[in-house]
Amino acid sequence: MPVSLYMLICLHDPRDGYYATRAGFNRDFTTAPETSQVFGELIGLWAAQEWLARSSNGAQPPKLNLIELGPGRGTMMRDMLRVARSVPDFMTALDVTLVEASPLLRAAQAETLAGHTIRHVDSFDDAPEGPAIIVGNEFLDCLPIRQFVRREGRWHERQAGVNRDGGLVFGLGPPADLPPGLSPAGDEAEFAPALETLVDQLVRRFAKYPGRALLIDYGPTEGAPGDSLRAYRDGQQIDPLAEPGASDLTADVDFGRLRRLAEAAGLSVHGPVSQGPFLTALGARERQAALVTANPARATDIAQMIDTLVSPDQMGERFKLISIGSPGLGAPAGFAETA
Ligand code: SAH
Repeated sequence: MPVSLYMLICLHDPRDGYYATRAGFNRDFTTAPETSQVFGELIGLWAAQEWLARSSNGAQPPKLNLIELGPGRGTMMRDMLRVARSVPDFMTALDVTLVEASPLLRAAQAETLAGHTIRHVDSFDDAPEGPAIIVGNEFLDCLPIRQFVRREGRWHERQAGVNRDGGLVFGLGPPADLPPGLSPAGDEAEFAPALETLVDQLVRRFAKYPGRALLIDYGPTEGAPGDSLRAYRDGQQIDPLAEPGASDLTADVDFGRLRRLAEAAGLSVHGPVSQGPFLTALGARERQAALVTANPARATDIAQMIDTLVSPDQMGERFKLISIGSPGLGAPAGFAETA
């Protein structure tokens, strides 16, 4: 089977898939919202700024969809909604939709967000119509990728299969054309077909209603990833074939491709910008100071967690944010320098 199908089954098989049955948050991997509440709070502030910017044009929508793609344990949304309360009109207008494939994680999200009215949908297309702010942290990196390898001048799709001893191995399919528009990295090329689907969905949505998506992930800003499929278990990187369904599978996000697709479709694209400068511009250190004032005994812990999010040698540079909005929008908060 192609790598994309292998990835899809490993992550989402209803009986044995990793996200469907045993997603190991804070065991196999740790994400930014799970590192510190400040992350989700600042993303919430960003969303509130978007709302306020729109209302100053006199076009404040009475209802605003807040849509999260792949919300994990619901932590980022909980922290976003905590700060949303400080802008009461914004909070009142919000209608929250979570796009989540995993029944296990839906249950975790409902628990984290108890007391809030939320809606779960299977696909972004099922989210309600209307103006929207769309957020997704570490959602794009788990979208299945197709990989191609060049041997003796011909391209082949990489496949996962079973060898004679019953072990999983990678092999190559018959000679095939490289899908159009792909720029290879040497003799390797990979891409996530779902990036195109996502851009199409945004185009259709933004043709009718204004909105902006903020997507946060890792991957090169320019230059395509070659072979970036990786697996994680217990915080260690392992062979992607070693523990199907019991390890997290991930691949770099091709931000350059995402940017080109969205620009070609006429959407407003800003970034990618690095997470460190973005969070700092939105007030990460000020929020840190406020938290320390409230919990002086935890000052060192709090400082360490914020450092993890913003330091260039931790998540600050590796993680990036791209903003894709309806046509004609200026730079959103935190992106001004790249406008
Ligand atoms: N945003 C969270 C979780 C990241 S893990 C955090 O930062 O902590 C990826 C999330 O995306 C999980 O919730 C997973 O179940 C979900 N997901 C992955 N592929 C999906 C798909 N195709 N449709 C809907 N949700 C998906």
